Amino acid sequence: MTLQTHRRRLRRILAATAVLALICAGQAPAQTFDLPDLGSSADTLMSSGAEIRLGKAFMRSVRESLPVLDDPILTSYIESLGLSLVAADPSASGRFTFFVIDEPLVNAFAGPGGYVGVYAGLMLAAETESELAAVLAHEIAHVTQRHLMRSIEDQSKLSIPATALLVAAAILGAQVSADAGAAAIAGIQAAALQRQINFTRDNEKEADRLGIATLANAGFDPYAMAGFFERLAKSSRVYENKAPEFLRTHPVNTNRIADALDRADDFGARQRPDGLRFQLARAKLRQRSYDRAEQAVSHFRATLREGRHRNETAERYGYALALERAGRFAQAKTETASLLAAHPSLQEFILLDARLDLKQGQTERALQHLRQAISLSGQSWPLRIAYAKALIAAKRPNKAMDELMTVARLRPGNAMLYELLEQAALKAGNRAATHRFRAEKLYAEGDVEPAIRQLEIALRQRDIPYHDAAQIQARLDTWREEERDRKRDKKGRAETSLQVLR
Ligand SMILES: [Zn+2]
Repeated sequence: MTLQTHRRRLRRILAATAVLALICAGQAPAQTFDLPDLGSSADTLMSSGAEIRLGKAFMRSVRESLPVLDDPILTSYIESLGLSLVAADPSASGRFTFFVIDEPLVNAFAGPGGYVGVYAGLMLAAETESELAAVLAHEIAHVTQRHLMRSIEDQSKLSIPATALLVAAAILGAQVSADAGAAAIAGIQAAALQRQINFTRDNEKEADRLGIATLANAGFDPYAMAGFFERLAKSSRVYENKAPEFLRTHPVNTNRIADALDRADDFGARQRPDGLRFQLARAKLRQRSYDRAEQAVSHFRATLREGRHRNETAERYGYALALERAGRFAQAKTETASLLAAHPSLQEFILLDARLDLKQGQTERALQHLRQAISLSGQSWPLRIAYAKALIAAKRPNKAMDELMTVARLRPGNAMLYELLEQAALKAGNRAATHRFRAEKLYAEGDVEPAIRQLEIALRQRDIPYHDAAQIQARLDTWREEERDRKRDKKGRAETSLQVLR
C-alpha cells in the first residue's frame, strides 16, 4: 500500500470517527474516560467473546489505515520477542498478537484483544534488545492490567464496530493531526481522547512497574526502561518539536524516570548480549528505510569498510539485502554464502539464499534447500511460506496450496497467506478455490461485502467438490450474519449519536 492510499484510508476512517469523537468530547469526558477504581468489577463488564470481536474489528481498522508489515522475518521476530515477555508475566493470559508498522515513527501501542503494534522507527531507535523489550513489556502490562478495556467498558452505549473505530482513531489518530480539514479536527480530538483513555499517570506508572518486573523475569536488563525513556526525552530536547511519538502518548518526566530506576533497583542490573535476530531485524529495517536501493548499498558498504557497526554479521546481512534490492543477485549470493557458512541453520539467511536462487532461475536448488531446512525446523512458518512460493515458481501449485493451508490453519486471518493461496489456486486452474481464497483475503482486510460476493461466485463454479461447497456455504452463512449485525450496529450508532446530540 502506498503512503498516499493509506493516508487516504486513514482520513476516511477519521472522517467517519469525527462525529463519534465530537460526541465523546462533549460528553463530560472526565467522567466518561476516568479510570475506574482498581479492584472494581470492571473486568466482568465486557465478555471475553466481545473483547475478541472488538480486537478483530480494531485490527481491521489498523490494517486499513496503517502499513502493517507482512514480512515473515520481521513479524516472526517481534512475535517471538513479545511472546517470550508474555511468558515471563505471571498476570498475562489470553491471546497476544504482535506486529510491525512500516513507518519511521518512534512509537508502540496496545489495542483491545491483545493486539500490540510496534513502529519500525521504534525498533531502529532502540539501541539494545532490552530497550525494545522494555517498550513491549510496558504495552503488555497495559493489556494485562486492562487499562484500555476498563475505559472502553464505560462506553457500553456504543456497539463493537463503533467502539473499535473510536479506539483506532484515539490510538492512531494523533499522527495525522497536521493534515488539513476534518482529519485534523478528528486528529486533535482523537489525541485528546487518547490521553484520557489510556495514558493516565497511574496507568503509565503501573505499566512501567509491571513491565520492569517482566523484563527482569525474562532475563532482560530491567534498567533498559528508564534508559530508553531518558534517551528519548534527551533527543526530543535536542530536536525541538520533534519529540518521539512515544513520549507524546506516554509522557515521560524526571519523576517517571526516577521511579523506573528505583523499580529496576529491586532486581539489579543484568548484562545480556543482544540476540542476533534483533540485530538482523534492525539491519533489514535499516535497509528498507532507504528510498533507493543504491543508497542502501552505499550505506552498508561504508559502515562495513569503516567498521561503524555493532554487529558485523547483521551489517553484512543488510548489505546482501541491499544488493538483492539493487538487482545485483550474483554479488548478493556471494555475501549470503559466507553468512550461511557461519550460520547454516538461521532462517533469515536460508530465506535470502532461496529467494536469490529463485531470482536466478535456480528453482530446484531453492526447493531442495528449503525442504531440507523445513525437515530440520518444521515449526518455522516463514520457511513454509518461502517453500510454497518456490513451489508456485516451480509450477507445482497444488503442492503449494497444501503447504499454505498448513500455515493458514496455524495462523488464520492472515491476508498475505490468502493472497498466495489465491495465486496458487489460479495457477492450478481451480476457479472455485481462487474465488474462495480471494474472499478470505478480502475478509481478512475487513472488506466483508466484496468477500461475500466472491464466495457466492465460488459456489456457482461447476467443478466444485461437495465437501468444499458445504464448507463455503457455512462460511457464507457466518459472514452474512456478521454483515447483518454490522448494518444493525451502524443504524444503532446513528441512533446513539442522535440521543447524545439531544
Ligand atoms: Zn503506556
